[in-house]
Amino acid sequence: MTDLIHTVADLIDERDREGLEVTLARVTFGMARARALTYWRVFRRGDGVWLRMRVALPEHLGPAKAGTDDMRLAAASEGLRLAYESRNLVRWRDRPGHPKGCVLPVQGANEVLGLIEIAVDSDIDRERQSLLAGMLRIYRSHLAALDYGDVDELTRLSNRRTFDDQFSRFVQAEGRRHGVRRMDDVWGARSHLAVADIDFFKQVNDRFGHPYGDEVLVLFAGLMRASFRETDKLFRFGGEEFVVLMANCSLDDALAAFERFRASVAAYNFPQVGQVTVSIGVTSLRLHDNGSAAFGRADQALYAAKRRGRNRVLLYEALQESSALESLRKPSTEVELF
Ligand code: GH3
Ligand code: MG
Ligand code: MG
Repeated sequence: MTDLIHTVADLIDERDREGLEVTLARVTFGMARARALTYWRVFRRGDGVWLRMRVALPEHLGPAKAGTDDMRLAAASEGLRLAYESRNLVRWRDRPGHPKGCVLPVQGANEVLGLIEIAVDSDIDRERQSLLAGMLRIYRSHLAALDYGDVDELTRLSNRRTFDDQFSRFVQAEGRRHGVRRMDDVWGARSHLAVADIDFFKQVNDRFGHPYGDEVLVLFAGLMRASFRETDKLFRFGGEEFVVLMANCSLDDALAAFERFRASVAAYNFPQVGQVTVSIGVTSLRLHDNGSAAFGRADQALYAAKRRGRNRVLLYEALQESSALESLRKPSTEVELF
């Protein structure tokens, strides 16, 4: 009983989502008395449902490349697919050549967030099944409570409040991945931040009404999710302003991705409203960058993009090199007259 309380306390002590998956995997591993366990994160990409291996336990059994290979749900094992579709625990008994085990779906508010594949030596009895189910319910409520303050209600993207925190984690993880030296050379950096602001959005509200404006924001966020990778971090900063943090990508590839996104917005037919465009300012991250400095640079490039006619992507470092920023620098008190 005491162990159980501590197990649950471990789970709800964890506030960081990435860490939460690892803690959930560890707690489940112990509770199920598993021989081996794999935690698959479920995510949606434009063209369907995908799985990414996040945790493999015990550690030494995990593949060297955990977290790098994404797999389509359609290509996953029958147990994983069934658990996803039924949203229920799927058990398999002895089959020659197969370990005993089960797959547990991890439910979020409306969707399946993960699948836990467990191999056991002896069957999981009813009592342990019920314990596991209870623990997953606690996990779900904990996630909902975390979301409450961190997620934008309209678009379900992360909100501005979480940006600084997520930015420092992101930079630390990227620094570890590449070694800090590479982060020092801005043109060689492999992480980028973009600020995207919808053009003439006020007119959308004025002409069609606020609910249609809201609908544009929701669809715009959907286009963002479909355009960027699962590893990219997406935020709604407020109003019609969005931020993308892009990891592990060359500058050329990042600019191509932002350009593709800009084009997909321009090509999208928003119900009733029709065409909407977006301006995007981009900057590459630097050594010892902080969230507001990087945001400030991207915001200056965004301001330049607006001045140059909107519906375009501009890179801060390119503007700086051509000294275009001096004449375009956004004075903090200027009233926009165009
Ligand atoms: P620009 O091309 O220079 O960005 O022009 P703009 O009209 O998009 O910019 P501005 O910042 O003047 O207008 C933003 C508008 O966004 C003003 C506000 O009414 C609207 N807005 C802010 N938050 C929301 C929201 O949650 N829903 C809706 N429908 N509108 C919002
Ligand atoms: Mg705008
Ligand atoms: Mg704006």
